[in-house]
Amino acid sequence: MSGKIIDGKAISQQIKEEVKKEAELLKKKGINPCLAVVLVGENSASRVYVNNKKKACQACGIESVSYELPEGTTEKELLDLVEKLNQDKKINGILVQLPLPKHIDETKVILAISPKKDVDCFHPQNVGALHTGGKGFLPCTPAGILELIQRSGYDIASKECVAIGRSNIVGKPVAMLLLQKNGTVTICHSKTKNLKEVCKRADIIVVATGKINTLTKDMVKPGAIVIDVGMNRNEAGKLCGDVDFEAVKEVAEAITPVPGGVGPMTIAMLMKNCLTAAKEQA
Ligand code: NDP
Repeated sequence: MSGKIIDGKAISQQIKEEVKKEAELLKKKGINPCLAVVLVGENSASRVYVNNKKKACQACGIESVSYELPEGTTEKELLDLVEKLNQDKKINGILVQLPLPKHIDETKVILAISPKKDVDCFHPQNVGALHTGGKGFLPCTPAGILELIQRSGYDIASKECVAIGRSNIVGKPVAMLLLQKNGTVTICHSKTKNLKEVCKRADIIVVATGKINTLTKDMVKPGAIVIDVGMNRNEAGKLCGDVDFEAVKEVAEAITPVPGGVGPMTIAMLMKNCLTAAKEQA
């Protein structure tokens, strides 16, 4: 038996088309969704991410304004730019690509972005809203994971859910979203004892460790849904996730591949947040 492969590319495409349609309707009402993308320094991976985000904006009919600042940009210069973008009525969303050069305090920059324009959902006000069930943006990768599960036809309510990883950008927020959908959630991390036993009872497993082969076949209950967030390079330099994909797909009901699973969803959800920002600010 082999599990269903959840096609993140196709699902993200579907979401981007929905965003595009809605953006067109907004434009007819005179609302022009616009994202400001800020890149500081010469990190080549960051440049690829930023270009992909700009391309996605174009595909979705969302305007993007790009600020590419030199490595030597001071913290004050960046904070001043963020403040200018906060005040600019034409800009609905602000994305400062992380990581920033070492001499700039990332926390200060995140705190400086207006929560209303914080489409990455990194500002503590939006993080707090996620935890209290208040109004705010949804974090892109975790929200994308929920879309993958739900649009593939799986219910989360009453399911045993396990998140492996407790980072602020994936593990903790995805656990919170699964809980909001009435899953019974366990969060695991590097100090968890009996990870295998905990995983073995799960109906839904989200793996976000950044470690190849964190989840192997013997840890998965037949019929479980497995979401692989990891992005690693193996010895051959090939992109791979945190799950032993070939073996686990033999027992899983459904599984996401890497690449082509969670990755494309993050950008699609960013586009959705830009649209939400434009609607809220109008
Ligand atoms: P972090 O390094 O911030 O967190 C990793 C987490 O995994 C930590 O909580 C750590 O535990 C836990 N962990 C590490 N090893 C083990 C282990 N052997 N068993 C159990 N838990 C373990 O990573 P991120 O959450 O930022 O990212 C995780 C992966 O997802 C990375 O590969 C990253 O590239 C990818 N990613 C992909 C995205 C996408 O769009 N597809 C977006 C964001 C991330 P502890 O806290 O105890 O140290």
